[in-house]
Amino acid sequence: MKFSHPHADVFVPDSSGTSPEVALARTTHLCVIAHQDDIEINAYPAVAECYGRSDRFFTGVVMTNGAGSARTGSYASVTDAEMQRIRCEEQRTAATLGKYNLQLQLAHASADVKQPGHPAVAADLTAIFGGCRPSVVYLHQPADKHDTHVACLLRCLEALRALPRDRRPARVLGVEGWRDLDWLADDRKVPLDASAHPALAEKLVAVFASQIAGGKRYDLAALGRRLANATFFASHATDSAGALSFAMDLTPLVNDETLPIVDFTVAQIENLRTDVAGRLNKFGA
Ligand SMILES: [Zn+2]
Repeated sequence: MKFSHPHADVFVPDSSGTSPEVALARTTHLCVIAHQDDIEINAYPAVAECYGRSDRFFTGVVMTNGAGSARTGSYASVTDAEMQRIRCEEQRTAATLGKYNLQLQLAHASADVKQPGHPAVAADLTAIFGGCRPSVVYLHQPADKHDTHVACLLRCLEALRALPRDRRPARVLGVEGWRDLDWLADDRKVPLDASAHPALAEKLVAVFASQIAGGKRYDLAALGRRLANATFFASHATDSAGALSFAMDLTPLVNDETLPIVDFTVAQIENLRTDVAGRLNKFGA
């Protein structure tokens, strides 16, 4: 299995000698995301659904090389190149801990991911989406406030929309990242149970020590967000999941390549506007 960038990393954690091609082909849950740690922070329910199962296979794809990340604390003297290597290693450790089926790190520069139709990025994504038939694909959500996350989503949608209709995944979800999904009306949120294997959930984020060292407590924040989602989800019964991640259903964008992504997203924001205005009006504003 060969990808465009010479630093691309292909890793099958299972020690039984499964080839990357076979691992990719059997993928049932596929997450394609921008950075090392984005899977573990934002798509944990996908990992948990496959963890320890012999009939489900989680494949994680990290699009960028992790260059330019903050280097503070004990990492202050580390070069950018060395940091990229450390982050790649951290991602492999997470894949092993989480018993992922396959971990791909494509090592693209962020600037390349931001270019519509970038040939090397497109070639890699076509090979990945064309090499498996997952039942669900997890991507970034379109209202994320991190430029690379949004660009990563757009490149993925380009690749998925270019597949023949009968090869497109049945379900595509956008997960929380550098903006949560509280702006979606409750009936548009896709709640994903994040409560399974709590010790694993914690360890998977703590693995990324290089990102936490500078004082950004992603480990606490990721788990805290899941707890807050579960607690404040209005229609959510008390006996259900104690930790929830939210996702946005992006399947319509993949089924219909003529549906404008901006219109689709802004329509959801309009829903929120209607909801807020309606409640204020109802009580005499
Ligand atoms: Zn990220």
